[in-house]
Amino acid sequence: GEPVSVRIRVTALPDDSIVIEAEDISELHRVERVRRDFVANVSHELKTPVGAMQLLAEALQDAVDDPEAAARFTSRIQHESARMARLVTELLELSRVQGAEATPEPVDVEIDRIILDALDRARTGAAAKNIFINVTGERGLVTYGSESQLATALGNLIDNAINYSPVDTTVTIETGNGGAELTVSVTDEGIGIAEADLDRIFERFYRADPARSRATGGTGLGLAIVKHIAGNHGGRVYVSSTPGTGSTFTLLLPSRTVRSADPAPTEGEM
Ligand code: ADP
Repeated sequence: GEPVSVRIRVTALPDDSIVIEAEDISELHRVERVRRDFVANVSHELKTPVGAMQLLAEALQDAVDDPEAAARFTSRIQHESARMARLVTELLELSRVQGAEATPEPVDVEIDRIILDALDRARTGAAAKNIFINVTGERGLVTYGSESQLATALGNLIDNAINYSPVDTTVTIETGNGGAELTVSVTDEGIGIAEADLDRIFERFYRADPARSRATGGTGLGLAIVKHIAGNHGGRVYVSSTPGTGSTFTLLLPSRTVRSADPAPTEGEM
């Protein structure tokens, strides 16, 4: 289990008696450790592409008389800088959704619209692997919060479904209405996730297979972002998976009974 940290303060009183106070500071230490690990991880993740780019730039300098080699090094520099840009973008996204003003001015959000939005972004990646995206379930569901955040969350789940699936498979997006709550799930026919990794994959930078994640351009932050966005909306995200068969990630969100065509709620109702 987790180590326990205790801070002890001993005070001598004028009458020669002493007071001993003990305070449990385990949580404080845990938070500090998590923050330190995160900074170390970020540094490592940034150092890797920077180091590669430095070496490639040197190689490029030596390849002035070899246009073919120069073109190869240039393209790898572009690849590494794109990876770094993606990492920085995701770090900013994560810090935004973790922040205090995580959901400014919540509004009604139509689930159909965020699905269309996410599909639009996923189209190229899906086409490249000949993956068919199937949308099914109930139409007209509405939740409450930030449309762009919810589209990001769903987009991340769809990106993963595509990244961790073989070519010529199907990804299914399914909506469900449970009364006070609604669900949006993303099911793939991909590699699946081992039982031991299931409760860790939502941690920042945790990857079941680091080499595979990097090969597909993953940053290890996508699911941490999804988890925060779900939490910001009073919902959650959960996963079920069978290695070798596929995975289902489900976003559970509060259901809004009004349709967006209805008048906006007055401030008193919020
Ligand atoms: P990454 O950028 O590595 O994809 P994520 O935070 O999105 O980071 O996911 C964390 C890890 O969870 C991935 O590295 C992968 O091991 C696993 N994972 C996420 N989605 C899926 C999926 N649909 N199928 C199989 N494994 C997945």
